[in-house]
Amino acid sequence: MEFEMSNTCNLEDIMCSGQVSSSIRTHRDHLPPLPMPYDDAFVTQLREFIPHLHEAKFYGGEPFLIPIYYQIWEAIAELKPELFMFVITNGTVLNSRVKDLLQKGRFELAVSIDALDKTKLESIRKNVHLETLLEHIDYFSTYSRQHHRPLH
Ligand code: SF4
Repeated sequence: MEFEMSNTCNLEDIMCSGQVSSSIRTHRDHLPPLPMPYDDAFVTQLREFIPHLHEAKFYGGEPFLIPIYYQIWEAIAELKPELFMFVITNGTVLNSRVKDLLQKGRFELAVSIDALDKTKLESIRKNVHLETLLEHIDYFSTYSRQHHRPLH
């Protein structure tokens, strides 16, 4: 099952659009937020499907900034903790909540970066700082290695 439920994102990458990034929608497009059709009732309805899933994939926006994903991840931790979960992150969000979450689930991560040259990276990925991003990638890499999973 694949989840692509919100455009909440803290970046304004030059090749992206307001449909995919809420920050672009606000700051570049000067448009109001997209409506969020998914609510607590959706998560409740999802519960009966979770035990039957083989894998779950989460896309953004930036998944680690999307509140309803945390509700879904909690439900998965409760109902099928062994479920394989794939998350594509921009690598900028790493706090205690994310770290706790990673320990609770079987996560495989992909970090989207467009360059490792600082000037190039920060000119493409607006709001990214290379040094912080590399620290986060290092954490995700250690996490993945410890759990014998690839980091993409
Ligand atoms: S991280 Fe992804 S969603 Fe956010 S601005 Fe960049 S490409 Fe768009």
